Amino acid sequence: MLAGAGAMPAAMPALAAPRRAAPPERASRAALPLVVLDPGHGGADPGAVGQAGTLEKRVVLAVAQELRRRLEAGGRVRVALTRNRDVFVPLAERVAIARRQEAALFLSIHADSAPPGHGAQGRDAPRGASIYTLAETASDPFSAALARRENMADQAGGLRLPSVPPDVQRILLSLMRAETRQSSERLARQTMQAMAGDLPLLSNPHRRAGFVVLKAPDVPSALVEIGFLSHPADEALLNRPAWRARVADSLADGVHAFVGRRVAT
Ligand SMILES: [Zn+2]
Repeated sequence: MLAGAGAMPAAMPALAAPRRAAPPERASRAALPLVVLDPGHGGADPGAVGQAGTLEKRVVLAVAQELRRRLEAGGRVRVALTRNRDVFVPLAERVAIARRQEAALFLSIHADSAPPGHGAQGRDAPRGASIYTLAETASDPFSAALARRENMADQAGGLRLPSVPPDVQRILLSLMRAETRQSSERLARQTMQAMAGDLPLLSNPHRRAGFVVLKAPDVPSALVEIGFLSHPADEALLNRPAWRARVADSLADGVHAFVGRRVAT
């Protein structure tokens, strides 16, 4: 819930402390942490397609836009979207958008579809929301298959690194990655806790796999699957604006929990 949003901006002095030094003349709003929301797929890539014809690219954009409205109304973060309309954006470019702007967090938003062989049909078919963080080795075959499907949007996952000698680069990267991994895990945990009271969740809802879009070494990142378009009940819910608003409420709570604690410590 966002009760009281907008009623307490003066009560958040801690937000005046930016993560990185900003020019002093650039006032408070620029010092707010930047949240980059990444609606999956777009353009020629529809993502998952539900049995009733619902397109993943459409529902995830609607949820991202709804979430942006809530976060902006809260006044605690700035928000950027990797796409704000039905266009194709390569996975590496989505990561680069967050890195270029030194985002405080990156949240990729998707809707899943169970592949054949995972009980995609019938009442027992998988449904519910889940959240993913990056791992070289997937937590389970289901997650590995999901990452493969999501990564097929494109194959270019290269990272731009500062121009330093390779050994220094390796050390820098590994330090950065360790810190970012911890923050990503916390982002996923807090987002999952926020969703747990409000939305049906997949079993073992926090999973790990090698998503290209989660590979920024310096931006805490997570990927949320807001439901299964392959499940008729989930598909029906995701088509309802009121349900998408509920999903956005949960995600906003998760983002606020993450940013709040990060700023306070
Ligand atoms: Zn997707």
